[in-house]
Amino acid sequence: MTDPLTVPPVVRGNYAFFFDLDGTLAEIKPHPDQVTLPEPIRLTLHQLAQQQQGALALISGRSMSELDALAAPYRFPLAGVHGAERRDIKGQLHRVELPPTLAAELRHWLNEQAPPLEGCEVENKGMAFALHYRQAPQHQRAIESLAQEAVKRFPGLALQPGKCVVEIKPEGINKGAAVSAFMQEAPFLGRLPVFVGDDLTDEAGFAVVNAAGGISVKVGQGKTQAHWRLASVADTHHWLLQLAQLHALTDRREGYESPDRRI
Ligand SMILES: [Mg+2]
Repeated sequence: MTDPLTVPPVVRGNYAFFFDLDGTLAEIKPHPDQVTLPEPIRLTLHQLAQQQQGALALISGRSMSELDALAAPYRFPLAGVHGAERRDIKGQLHRVELPPTLAAELRHWLNEQAPPLEGCEVENKGMAFALHYRQAPQHQRAIESLAQEAVKRFPGLALQPGKCVVEIKPEGINKGAAVSAFMQEAPFLGRLPVFVGDDLTDEAGFAVVNAAGGISVKVGQGKTQAHWRLASVADTHHWLLQLAQLHALTDRREGYESPDRRI
């Protein structure tokens, strides 16, 4: 079957870039702690951010502290835990918390229910919980039922399925809402959004970008509402490098080069 979606254009102009991390900018590993962001990619993200006056954010299911560690030494605007936590361009934090008693009860309940599912892992993200089954795919249905039961039992929660993970998070939190929040603020405001992601969690981001007439890019195979597709993380790296090089080249031609931009 031929894929009707093609590689996104290498664009130059007033764009705001949003990148998912795992499976998009970084290869997925058996355990999330093994994932790294290659140094040339971190540098290229930094260059592209500078070329776009800072209008570049990472939007991930990971916590912001993990994202900062992966992107170091650079610090980008971030949305962590699917947007439950967000850091804007000024460094200001925006957080959606689960009520403390609800979070404690849910944690206690999950820790009671999950142990029989050997190889599965309950990750406590503070305002959300991730039930991982990458090491034990035979437990997929059991994990999904457990997550559904949690959402029925505790009010104000929603499910977010992903690759070998089901997350339980506050209702109304998703990557699309995170993109919308950034797009209301400088330097994102007034630009066309570009969102690149690989997973089900990224579809909400694609929807917001499509509605704004921007560029939505799915990485890898699978049904999607994105309008463009990159085949792999390596292809995403290649496209990203081309973007940054095009901007650098055009800036030089137009005499906009500054010592800062040459870094
Ligand atoms: Mg991903």
